Amino acid sequence: MESNALLWFRKGLRIHDNPALDHARRGATRRLFPVFVLDPRYLEPDPTAFSPGSARCGINRIQFLLESLADLDGSLRRLGSRLLVLRGGDPADVLIRVLKEWKIGKLCYEADTEPYGQARDNRVREFASASGIEIFSPVSHTLFDPADVIQKNGGKPPLTYQSFVKLVGQPPSPIAQRVTSLPPVGDVGEYEILGVPTLQELGYGDIGQVEFSPFRGGESEALKRLKESLTSKEWVANFEKPKGDPSAFIKPATTVLSPYLKFGCLSSRYFYQSIQEIYKNAKRHTSPPVSLVGQLLWREFFYTVAFGTPNFDQMRENKICKQIPWSNDEKLLASWREGQTGFPWIDAIMVQLQKWGWMHHLARHSVACFLTRGDLFIHWEKGRDVFERLLIDSDWAINNGNWLWLSCSSFFYQYHRIYSPTKFGKKYDPTGKFIRHFLPVLKDMPKEYIYEPWTAPLSVQKKANCIIGKDYPRPIVSHDTASKECKKKMGEAYAFNNLLGDANWKRLREKSE
Ligand code: FAD
Repeated sequence: MESNALLWFRKGLRIHDNPALDHARRGATRRLFPVFVLDPRYLEPDPTAFSPGSARCGINRIQFLLESLADLDGSLRRLGSRLLVLRGGDPADVLIRVLKEWKIGKLCYEADTEPYGQARDNRVREFASASGIEIFSPVSHTLFDPADVIQKNGGKPPLTYQSFVKLVGQPPSPIAQRVTSLPPVGDVGEYEILGVPTLQELGYGDIGQVEFSPFRGGESEALKRLKESLTSKEWVANFEKPKGDPSAFIKPATTVLSPYLKFGCLSSRYFYQSIQEIYKNAKRHTSPPVSLVGQLLWREFFYTVAFGTPNFDQMRENKICKQIPWSNDEKLLASWREGQTGFPWIDAIMVQLQKWGWMHHLARHSVACFLTRGDLFIHWEKGRDVFERLLIDSDWAINNGNWLWLSCSSFFYQYHRIYSPTKFGKKYDPTGKFIRHFLPVLKDMPKEYIYEPWTAPLSVQKKANCIIGKDYPRPIVSHDTASKECKKKMGEAYAFNNLLGDANWKRLREKSE
């Protein structure tokens, strides 16, 4: 007998290589209801937040999501359908209501491995199973199924990239067949259906002069960007991550496909396959971990470890995380978050985060190291929260994984290797173009002083219309002293962790309080 199907979009905001969509449209589907539920957890305006947006999501990522939904709606309409945007509180509650009202026989959605997504989906799954609704929930956000990888590894996630790569082999191919039409949308009864809302309709009427990210959301933009990124076969074949220029902002040194992967506007399997096609015809190409395929495998690695590690997003009760008595200085944290540390390289990156929601990987390294084990000795969870809110590619597994890495809490332990907040950026951008763009207050500072403006004579500061301490802050710490102190504290923390186990973490914490 024919039944109604509901396709529940959360991530996976695309038509291409979308197994949930593919399944939903096939077989005995009479009517298909493609649904997206607006989640107040991420979208409710928070006027107390330090920059426009909700408590968990900066305005740029909200805008990126709305653009992605509008693009998806356009594509669905071309296929004879449309996107039904619903609101009304907790997405699981809303979904359960419409499953009943619309007499759904088949529910399709992409599996989600994040704890929040799993809790939400379990509630819906329970209801659907008890109501006899068929569920199809494929893994398609990642190349591999993290649960399979963990099973292959004897029930534990592999904790090094190398062991992960050895284990996984080739991912499944993307779906080759193009979708040319979809079953019609059914009668939605009394239910209020919205078009894709604008920021204003979500309650962001009063956001003033926000400079929006130059990266636009949506599958169409993702596929265009993928095509452009892969135009130069030589660039793809020779891609080596640590060699890119983190200060390049007019033409970034990497693909900037991360926001599209985050929302699933781009299929990671399609991306992977497109790179492999280029490798096939190249005389030689780089390899993981530095190659472009290697970058996608980093994503998989963090997804797998995150899925298989209880409390992955915190220090406490996280077995793979070193216990370190981080300090809790709100004033220093605020200076870092607001781009007011007095180190132009660090501040320009933090302004890029606020304005664009995206920074190069090594720029992220610089500011994460500075906040934690490099200079300020502030808890990685605090920095993680700022990134989580402001990045347009904000991703639970990858963000937490990289903060664990950069703070030398897990995966990487060479805490003596610290990024200099003055010398590192200068190697790539000696005249300070990046700083001048994101910190216009320093735009006329001569290049000799652009990375350390506090060393400029007063006459030079006056001429540059930027008095240090008045127009731009003095450095909040002395890097030499602070980094030495950080290394000492890291050494002590490691010694406690290594020699004496967790009991000493308590002593160490008491000492720091
Ligand atoms: P490319 O170099 O073009 O790589 C292609 C894709 O590979 C990326 O889009 C991304 O999906 C994946 N990738 C690349 N580097 C990494 C990596 N180190 N770990 C995992 N996957 C990777 N990336 C996010 O997508 N979301 C985050 O929330 C996030 N938080 C980070 C926090 C910190 C402290 C650091 C140091 C890095 C973080 N990254 C995060 C990883 C990385 O910086 C970005 O994925 C990358 O800069 C995105 O730019 P791109 O798409 O041009 O990357």
